[in-house]
Amino acid sequence: MYIEQEDILKHISAKAFHLISEAAEELGVEVYVIGGYVRDIFLHRPSKDIDVVAVGSGIELAKAVAKKLGRRACLSVFKNFGTAQVKAGDLELEFVGARKESYTHDSRKPIVEDGTLEDDQNRRDFTINALALCLNKDRYGELVDPFDGLTDMDNLLIRTPLDPDITFSDDPLRMMRAVRFASQLGFFIDPDTFDAIERNKERISIISKERIVDELNKIVLSPKPSVGFDLLDRCGLLPLIFPELCALKGVETKEGIGHKDNFAHTLMVLDRLSKTTDSLWLRWSALFHDIAKPATKRFDPRLGWTFHNHNFIGEKMIPGIFRKMKLPMNEKMKYVQKMVSLHMRPIALSDDEVTDSAIRRLLFDAGDDIDDLMKLCEADITSKNPEKVRRFLNNFQKVRNKLADIEEKDRVRNFQPPVTGEEIMDTFGLPPSQPVGVLKEAIKNAILDGVIPNEHEAARAFMLQRAENMGLRPVKK
Ligand code: ATP
Repeated sequence: MYIEQEDILKHISAKAFHLISEAAEELGVEVYVIGGYVRDIFLHRPSKDIDVVAVGSGIELAKAVAKKLGRRACLSVFKNFGTAQVKAGDLELEFVGARKESYTHDSRKPIVEDGTLEDDQNRRDFTINALALCLNKDRYGELVDPFDGLTDMDNLLIRTPLDPDITFSDDPLRMMRAVRFASQLGFFIDPDTFDAIERNKERISIISKERIVDELNKIVLSPKPSVGFDLLDRCGLLPLIFPELCALKGVETKEGIGHKDNFAHTLMVLDRLSKTTDSLWLRWSALFHDIAKPATKRFDPRLGWTFHNHNFIGEKMIPGIFRKMKLPMNEKMKYVQKMVSLHMRPIALSDDEVTDSAIRRLLFDAGDDIDDLMKLCEADITSKNPEKVRRFLNNFQKVRNKLADIEEKDRVRNFQPPVTGEEIMDTFGLPPSQPVGVLKEAIKNAILDGVIPNEHEAARAFMLQRAENMGLRPVKK
């Protein structure tokens, strides 16, 4: 990886870096920028978080830097961790003293001692994350790269600085990080490093679910997420952290009829969708859309393989999986449930004749998420038969056009009934009761079926007539 020294200096030219240099000189300590910020200079990636290592006290250095920055700096000290943060404008500087770490078998928490720069680089996860740039005056901009991280960067390699069995056994989160960086950066995991992940995979059990899901989110958000999920599968971590996704793997054949491999299909849908959206939860919806296929799989001698109701069963499985994986149990989960439950609807609609009523019902059920749902469905068309794909995409365009027409005409996307329950109770002098619900539902269906327009006057007339059939009369006021 060749980069002009001038370019490197540009990335450490901000006033804050020079103030760090001055403060270090005054305190008589060695100081380096290290880790992700240095790596990202070479990868030409924008990076905001800056990690600074002092061979001495990181906290003292941070205090001195904050003083030099004056009023525009905000200092936070985390004494227990021996770290400090200085925020100035959009710069975020993290300070730590160089440290040596040693681990016990059953914990991610190391015993920490003061150390040299070399000790500090030894405890880093990958060679590309161990690069350091000196900020001391007479060595300003000098790169310290003891593990040849630059060559690994050239070869797009994720490799541990020390024996990978030690690096991963010490902190098993690093196995997830290896896969995440490979997926995020389009890198390859060095074979020795990969083999060590396979050997140490069971140690993932000492890592909290929250940390695992943080890494999974980064994999889901990477440019081609299948890279990460394929790696997780091949190294054996996937069944330990997301067994339901693993269960989609495999093809069964009966009476000469096979079904597609739903794991490969799911990853293909996720990659296709990722080209059209950066939305984390829409991408998670792709991962979950067929999650109930193994549970619903049947072989019917007439129909072949069926997965009846896999959308509804999938919707029901989601809260349990979210809880277990420590994914959020809030409106994000509800959104994923909705996408999974509706993911067959647009495709079913695109078959032949698309009725207005079916379109209105889809708009009603999907609400503002209709565009996301259409994206998911389009990504779901992964047939290898080009004629079939052409026909589907063509019909899909018809569905989209019709959605736009109906949306403009009937405004059912965020349907609010034009006659409220209050008005029904008022009109007939009813308490909250079953007939109120029946009338409300009848009005909704009449609008969605196109029997009446989505307007108050028409809905009121319809209500009066329907009520009369039920033996209800308006009360006089
Ligand atoms: P990102 O910001 O995308 O999460 P990053 O590597 O830039 O990735 P951090 O995760 O904050 O940022 O890590 C900063 C640096 O700290 C890394 O580059 C690496 O040197 C080191 N590091 C972080 N986590 C670990 C770990 N679990 N084991 C060893 N070193 C680590």
